[in-house]
Amino acid sequence: MHNFTFSNPTKIVFGDGQIATIGREIDNQHHVLLMYGGGSIKKNGVYQQVIDSLKEHKITEFSGVEPNPSIETLSKAITLAKQENIDYILAVGGGSVIDGAKLVAAGVKYEGDAWDILAKGAKVRSALPLSCILTLPATGTESNGNSVITKRSTQEKLPFSSPLVYPRVAVLDPSVTFSLPERQVANGVVDAFVHTMEQYLTYDVNAPVQDRFAEGLLSTLIEEGPKALSDPSNYDVRANIMWAATMALNGLIGVGVPQDWATHAIGHEITALHGLDHAQTLAIVLPSLMQHKRDKKAAKLVQYGRRVWGIESASDEEVIDQAITKTAAFFEQMGVPTKLSGYGIAADAIDGLVAQMEKHKLHAIGEHKDINPEVARKILEDAA
Ligand code: NAP
Ligand code: FE
Repeated sequence: MHNFTFSNPTKIVFGDGQIATIGREIDNQHHVLLMYGGGSIKKNGVYQQVIDSLKEHKITEFSGVEPNPSIETLSKAITLAKQENIDYILAVGGGSVIDGAKLVAAGVKYEGDAWDILAKGAKVRSALPLSCILTLPATGTESNGNSVITKRSTQEKLPFSSPLVYPRVAVLDPSVTFSLPERQVANGVVDAFVHTMEQYLTYDVNAPVQDRFAEGLLSTLIEEGPKALSDPSNYDVRANIMWAATMALNGLIGVGVPQDWATHAIGHEITALHGLDHAQTLAIVLPSLMQHKRDKKAAKLVQYGRRVWGIESASDEEVIDQAITKTAAFFEQMGVPTKLSGYGIAADAIDGLVAQMEKHKLHAIGEHKDINPEVARKILEDAA
């Protein structure tokens, strides 16, 4: 196992009815910027629960943070937060709202254009405190220091990370996920699954604790994901998916082990150019990447096939074939197509995606740093 340090400062408040506690978690001396998206929280009652709990706080609202949040929108929130002397941010929504709130938290304290944090890797030296009410289990952003922001004008989607933007408190009430459209339920399961795979399906470093945690999360998502579609009002199914998604990217399973993240990097380019949902891009890239990297990932692929899918065929090569087929079939079962053509994107779009990777200098990604834009071209061609 590699050396590591581990700290996850986010306080998780989990369960039915827990949104009512947020007012107690945030000191009422704060002037809170309440950030949310396109209005789903007003339809499902989450907004009213938050307002009721924050009745002793001074609140300013910023709504309209869009899926794949843009710097164009978030710059307005930064300006507003500075004007109003905001000193605390509460994000209420899915990954997009929470990621957006992280950039605002850092951007308010940053002298200059906040896009520098993404495009130039400018260091985050200070950030406003931030908490969140999660409404869509998927990204893990509710208890990590990562954020992904899009610049619409240049069609770029870039990540940043900082320990200063971990949410202080994250409220996870599974019952708020009942109002999710099926597509977003499925997206969430696929995103959490791929987060786990990016930290698990690499090469062995004798870390069975991390392996067994990851396998437990993968098995849980495989078992519970389809139930969320077939039995949508089952609270326990929602609760287990929600907790699995948080655990998949709160740092725990990734400590001391190699990490891949090439599927995410390639996927971000597909969203940037073609507007697909984040998880849809992952469902396209991962099965094809598994096939292309089957030799270097062989030992883990066999372990994954045998432990997670229970494949008992004789030869390792057969186990790998079946493991890849079953992974793609699981995404399809969740209703998430695994080919570019499934979204109406033709193979001639691949040149543009490869050019974007060149532009972003993605010349050495994956756990062996051996995926460059030309390797990605082959992965995408097989996913056409
Ligand atoms: P999302 O983009 O936050 O939300 C998708 C849609 O779901 C929105 O239209 C939203 O509506 C709606 N929605 C959310 N909660 C709902 C509910 N309870 N009921 C009904 N509708 C609801 O989706 P996401 O998958 O959570 O986030 C995706 C973003 O996160 C991408 O930009 C991705 O790159 C990023 N990401 C971040 C990390 C990380 O670690 N930071 C990891 C992976 C991905 P409203 O707009 O009305 O709220
Ligand atoms: Fe993701």
